[in-house]
Amino acid sequence: MLGLEDLEIGIMFWARQDARETIREVKAFGVRAGQLGFPGELPLEGAGERWDEALTSEHFVAVTAVCSYAGEDYTDIPTVARTVGLVLPDTRAERIARTKAVSDIARQLAIDSIACHIGFIPENPKEPVYKEIRDVARDICDYCRENGESFTLETGQEPAKVLLRFIEDVDRKNLKINFDPANMILYGTGDPIEALDVLGKLVVSVHCKDGDWPVRDNPAALGVEKPLGEGSVDIPAFISKLKEIGYRGILSIEREERAAEQRAADIRKAIALLERLR
Ligand code: MG
Repeated sequence: MLGLEDLEIGIMFWARQDARETIREVKAFGVRAGQLGFPGELPLEGAGERWDEALTSEHFVAVTAVCSYAGEDYTDIPTVARTVGLVLPDTRAERIARTKAVSDIARQLAIDSIACHIGFIPENPKEPVYKEIRDVARDICDYCRENGESFTLETGQEPAKVLLRFIEDVDRKNLKINFDPANMILYGTGDPIEALDVLGKLVVSVHCKDGDWPVRDNPAALGVEKPLGEGSVDIPAFISKLKEIGYRGILSIEREERAAEQRAADIRKAIALLERLR
């Protein structure tokens, strides 16, 4: 495997059926590492072999396997609560199975970290669903441990202290955090730089993403994602805080803009910004 530099710039990208073509598009940005997302709709049959061959031949390093689930919808907060992650009883079993399947693929690819949005963790640990999700997290952590992996929760859907208490309650050493500073702003759950003081020791990967706070008069609204450096995260402060806490992993640029050309332009600008800051 390629040796990566500390704070090397990478990209969060989603697998398509053609693994080589997917990687070549990412490499066209001049990066050699990233986080490999498996969309919920993507068939996983044969994916381990295909991606192993493609990553090796393209000399590309995937540091995280990101798992999303069919039927997830990030339109607004109630829709996220109704569709995202492992909280919902109707889809829980199939999504746990999907997460374990992605964990098995990651093992084939020598990726030692799995990430997902688990869904909204209740602030009140006495709510019955809290214990259910805690047990789900334990189950997945134990599965990932057998595969030599950590299981990482992405930040954003709850305040840092709620996430920290949950992780302590799950009580598994391989439960970690994929830190997305923009999500904390988009969901209005707290200042991301302050959150790093609370969660820093658990952070094994980060998304470099930016965004603005939701409008105040609509509690259902999410904030709006922005090109890196143009939102409310304070990217220079974010990178300097990562250095302060001793983070050494990749800086994984995540841009969810739908228009392909705009997305590519935003990623190139993000790379230039991070080159100056890292
Ligand atoms: Mg993210």
